[in-house]
Amino acid sequence: MNRLPFAQPGRFWRGNLHTHSTRSDGHLEPAETVAWYRDNGYDFVALTDHFVQRFGCRISDTRSMRTGGFTTLIGAELHAPRTQAGNLWHIVAAGLPLDFAPPAPGETGPQLAARAEANGAFVIVAHPAYYGLTVADVETMGAAHALEVFNGASELAYQMGDSSHILDVLMSRGRRIDACATDDAHFEYPEYPDHGLGWVEVRAEENDPDALTAALRAGHFYASEGPKLLDVAIDGDDVVIASSPVMKVIVSGGGERYECRYGIDLTEARVPLAVFHNGSFEVDPRLGTYVRITVVDAHGKRAWTNPIWLG
Ligand SMILES: [Zn+2]
Ligand SMILES: [Zn+2]
Repeated sequence: MNRLPFAQPGRFWRGNLHTHSTRSDGHLEPAETVAWYRDNGYDFVALTDHFVQRFGCRISDTRSMRTGGFTTLIGAELHAPRTQAGNLWHIVAAGLPLDFAPPAPGETGPQLAARAEANGAFVIVAHPAYYGLTVADVETMGAAHALEVFNGASELAYQMGDSSHILDVLMSRGRRIDACATDDAHFEYPEYPDHGLGWVEVRAEENDPDALTAALRAGHFYASEGPKLLDVAIDGDDVVIASSPVMKVIVSGGGERYECRYGIDLTEARVPLAVFHNGSFEVDPRLGTYVRITVVDAHGKRAWTNPIWLG
């Protein structure tokens, strides 16, 4: 099913879904954090302070920071035991109620994610590469709508920002999950800015918290660290991509299935999908077949679509 945002009504709104303030381990006050996004070309931000006892299990209330043309999603980074590697889960939720209850004794990460989902939030598996999540971990978290294919702070600090590998393994095993990019900003080191690194472009009719959250949950967004995707559409047996100028257009489908176009200042590409409909490859017919598109610009900056499930 095609859940792409491009033919949806409305326009794109740019937002960061993962950032921290002095309400947890960030280094700017909530209002300063939100103001940075408002003053730097964003339409919305979710302040997602760590929701743990150490910081009082508080959901940061950013409603007073909404101004004409700029809004906030109420969010948090949720934690509960325990991943296969023995860590607390990191689960970003945007669109939470302000009275979201702290984790109950014995509540697991997957149960906490399911409760956030049931309370209307857009639920993200945060930075899988950074803390060694496994495919089996994410497969226990059925409530997650998306995972961070790119986490800016993990890339900046540890070169561990890219989680495209686990995304493709999950989808090759039939899991339907979307791909977002975030900052995970803490504003700690001015000489190494961890903000403005990764964001989502959400298609909605209004820049309104409820409309944005509904669009995110429906998959009506793409992720970027630079390039703009102007249109991606299935046209017969092809996928047609229009973007800001890029050097590479990569259509990937898991396993060894790729179609790529390379050039200087590419702004349009038409790519046949035959290879993804099994083609010469032996693909387990029980699995869904998907493609996803990544574009890369002259500075190495990428944009990512959500998976498109074929037939
Ligand atoms: Zn985290
Ligand atoms: Zn974080």
